Amino acid sequence: MKVSDKFRLDGRVSIVTGGAVGLGKAMAQGLAQAGSHLVIADLNLEAAERTAAELRLEGVDAIAVRTDVTDPDRVRGMVDASLERFGRIDALINNAGITVHVPIEEMRLEDWQNVMNVNLTSVFLVSREVGKAMIARGGGAIVNISSMSGLVSNVPQHQAAYNTSKAGVVMLTKSMASEWARYNIRVNAIAPGYMKTEMTAPYFEENGAMVKEWMSMTPLSRPGTPDELQGIAVYLASDASSYATGGVFVVDGGYTIR
Ligand code: NAD
Repeated sequence: MKVSDKFRLDGRVSIVTGGAVGLGKAMAQGLAQAGSHLVIADLNLEAAERTAAELRLEGVDAIAVRTDVTDPDRVRGMVDASLERFGRIDALINNAGITVHVPIEEMRLEDWQNVMNVNLTSVFLVSREVGKAMIARGGGAIVNISSMSGLVSNVPQHQAAYNTSKAGVVMLTKSMASEWARYNIRVNAIAPGYMKTEMTAPYFEENGAMVKEWMSMTPLSRPGTPDELQGIAVYLASDASSYATGGVFVVDGGYTIR
């Protein structure tokens, strides 16, 4: 098989949580361009519907399912809807995530728990349900979106809950990879650095001094763009990465080299 063919996902089905906008949308577009049908599982149904419509223009089938990844019943419903529509799930990208910027001494327990639920517990909940379907079908690929903040405590922003949740995603990735290798399910994580999305662009404009500090610590001296995660997402979802499992793939312009 030619190496370019190993990246193809024709006829396969992928779920992207939080795939309505931002990095999730870009990764969904990458998977669609490689031939995968898509399920966009997001809290924001309107935006998810718009994204699914754009993905269908790539020549694949795509549906939007309103999902709160912290709610086990909603997650089960989303997986049932995906199986009902497509009959199989080959790849899952656990991408939905949030952050709060609050100093530890002022952080409310609710804020801490909310970040943990959306960023970490959701990866367990969604993977548990999708994993059952993958086990029944003989395998699959799971890609968890961690962050460089799961590997280093990036400064100067106050985001202890976020950093801790993303470090948890790294260990959950390794744990799932070791438990599920026998079912032919590969589980890897991507750790992006500072990425400029439509939503973070105004933040980048408004916080010039801080962004300058971030970029001075980034060897490539610029933020990443959402399309720069498409290659790694397609690689990890496809047979091109057939011997990779339990890995954490850093895409951060070199920030964590130090
Ligand atoms: P974003 O805020 O632009 O998009 C997040 C999406 O997740 C939205 O569509 C939102 O509706 C959805 N979502 C939020 N809570 C949800 C829930 N409970 N259930 C279902 N959907 C929910 O975020 P982004 O910047 O594209 O980030 C995507 C992922 O990448 C996150 O996990 C984030 O932590 C991670 N990440 C982002 C950056 C960055 O610089 N943007 C860097 C490293 C890692």
